[in-house]
Amino acid sequence: MLRVILLSFLFICSDIVYGSELNNVPQYHQVSAESGDGVYSILRRYKLLDANCNIAQFYVLNNLDKNSSLVKGKKYQIPVLIFQYNGQSIRSTIGNDDWDKAVRIQKYNEMLLSEGLRKTSYRASKILWVPYNEMHCEGTTNKTIAVSNPVAKPSEKKETVFVDPLYGKEHEKFTLVSNDQKNKVFYIVSGHGGPDPGAIGACRGHSLCEDEYAYDVALRLAKKLKENGAKVHVIIQDKNDGIRSEDILPCDKDETCLGKAPIPLNQKKRLAQRVYAVNSLYKDYKKQGISDQYFISIHIDSRSESMRQDVFFYHSPLSKSGKKLATNIQETFRAKYKKYRTSRGYNGSVTARNLYVLRNTHPTAVFVELANIRNVNDQRRILPQSNRQYLAEWLYEGLTK
Ligand SMILES: [Zn+2]
Repeated sequence: MLRVILLSFLFICSDIVYGSELNNVPQYHQVSAESGDGVYSILRRYKLLDANCNIAQFYVLNNLDKNSSLVKGKKYQIPVLIFQYNGQSIRSTIGNDDWDKAVRIQKYNEMLLSEGLRKTSYRASKILWVPYNEMHCEGTTNKTIAVSNPVAKPSEKKETVFVDPLYGKEHEKFTLVSNDQKNKVFYIVSGHGGPDPGAIGACRGHSLCEDEYAYDVALRLAKKLKENGAKVHVIIQDKNDGIRSEDILPCDKDETCLGKAPIPLNQKKRLAQRVYAVNSLYKDYKKQGISDQYFISIHIDSRSESMRQDVFFYHSPLSKSGKKLATNIQETFRAKYKKYRTSRGYNGSVTARNLYVLRNTHPTAVFVELANIRNVNDQRRILPQSNRQYLAEWLYEGLTK
């Protein structure tokens, strides 16, 4: 019943089928918890315990915190991605040329079949199961299956646990997944905030404020970076928002700079405040000998309502490293859209632009525009939380290329 009501609301916003703008995004496999099942026993059954990032992803997928127990009979998403097997090869199905990886995935599917965890072979059913870590956690593990190796007991694994209430109740606890980004510093700045909501769109009678959506993506990106060992500074903060799962995010004005300073209304003062905050931190890290420092400003501005706008990037005209960074992220988006939005190409650009925040910040800087907040098709990129998560993960991939 609830679902029916929700759907009818969703259609009011858009006459096109609402949901993901991505038509080819793999879904996660779901399993019902059996009597006595915990997070580790389910993951062990599906041979997913060897990569820490699978464990972390299980908590994220199911909105669970570390101490949650599972409810018998309830369905949970497990970190196994479902791909439509193209009948040719695993490598072309998942868009990755790594031969060893393909062999591991093949063995994984065959083993699950032999253990009765899946009922048909991937060749017959054209459904390929791919462990999450094979797609998303490069470098954190090179083994997916440890058939002959005993699986390490959870208690034997040393875990670094972060607790940061900034990410919200459901996301405040998370674990270090890798040290891939160690010794790198990232400054994440969501556009606008405080008295300035940025651009405003509309959906189902609600206002869509640019700063709220930019902030949600910013937090998701920050968390991902932190999970991979980076030092991260979320410059614009909202103490009571956190990462949110709703598609309509209410507008508010209580954002601050670094959790303390109110944000001025005057545009010049507002931008100077965040630039000063970034540059002060930059200097401290520089003194410690850390020079890999990156700045990203996230926006969702408005254009005319009819204009669709793919994700695009600006860099400072004089910054070669900024241009390189912007191009890296653009290339990541191009590859993702080729794979996941097969209905339409990708036209996001990289342009030099003399913007105050790009010109004045010391770290390598990039400015990203995620969508046109007034365009109904573009809104589908930012309203469902799953799409905001994809945006954050792709930004992460591009930033860390
Ligand atoms: Zn903006």
